[in-house]
Amino acid sequence: MPVGTQGTLKGLLPEQLKRLGCNIMLGNTYHLGNRPGPELMKKAGGLHEFMSWDRNLLTDSGGFQMVSLLKLAKITEEGVEFQSPHDETMMLLTPERSIEIQNALGADIIMQLDDVVSSLVSGPRVEEAMHRTVRWLDRCLKAHSRPHDQNLFPIVQGGLNANLRRQCAEELVKRDVPGFAIGGLSGGEEKHAFWKMVTLSTDVLPKEKPRYLMGVGFPEDLVVCAALGCDMFDCVFPTRTARFGTALVPTGQLNLKNNKFATDFRPIDENCPCSTCKEYKYTRAYLHTIVTYESVACQLLTIHNIAYQLNLMLSIHESIKQDKFPEFIKDFFKKLYPKENYPKWAEESLSSVNVHLRER
Ligand SMILES: [Zn+2]
Repeated sequence: MPVGTQGTLKGLLPEQLKRLGCNIMLGNTYHLGNRPGPELMKKAGGLHEFMSWDRNLLTDSGGFQMVSLLKLAKITEEGVEFQSPHDETMMLLTPERSIEIQNALGADIIMQLDDVVSSLVSGPRVEEAMHRTVRWLDRCLKAHSRPHDQNLFPIVQGGLNANLRRQCAEELVKRDVPGFAIGGLSGGEEKHAFWKMVTLSTDVLPKEKPRYLMGVGFPEDLVVCAALGCDMFDCVFPTRTARFGTALVPTGQLNLKNNKFATDFRPIDENCPCSTCKEYKYTRAYLHTIVTYESVACQLLTIHNIAYQLNLMLSIHESIKQDKFPEFIKDFFKKLYPKENYPKWAEESLSSVNVHLRER
């Protein structure tokens, strides 16, 4: 899922996303809940109408944005207390308020308010946050006024503590919910700890319901975590990296600001079906000249990067259906690491699900 903030992707229109074959995108409740606000959103007929997007939407709870954006956020049992960015008054985001806003926005998938702690924090705070997340889930479920047309996902927390994470997942699956999210990861922790937490979460969460790994979007992470049992991902990485002039390709990344591209008249990726590469055939040399200076360059790269990620997920999906996922994973890693100097965590995590990168 590409990530939109104010109901739009940075540098891309909803219709452009549609043309890329995107079926679901993410909207930030924190931004949309403050301005234009839930009352206006209700009048507009919900976020789909407001942004002219007739496909699926997922909104987050708003909590993560607050804790990460606002230094003054304070968490109590009641909710997340924070200073309004507009008039500096103190405001409170409770589980009930988060659901009320998300019910007004009307996304197809909505998220519970969870007590998020950085994956670098350890000790009693992690345990407190895990138990509070379960209590807040029950408040969210109770407050949810549109269970018939909006899917509320709970979030597995528990930091990097295996027992807490397992306990949390086991508690969540007791509730009748349509899907699950794994949160609190990809915050700078060691990759070894990261994949262990992912795999022990998917071990507990039911296979027949979607499992959404939050905030993960590096191409290698998508491939590995899909192998570990995750179905959905969101990340600002493809759009953010486009703004820095970087294009995603099967061999890794092209930093188009690099002078070596000044005379390179090939498209970003000859096999890419996106409009930047195939339809309009913009050359690396042209993009090199305008990246990070002109906003259209950002748009051209964003289109390409989103197309890259969507095609990657589509290829994963197709290879699973054809029972060829292990081969796909090996090819993907071989292109990325032609010398087979694979990262240790990737080899270990894939071995745990019987995919051995060096075996042909
Ligand atoms: Zn392309």
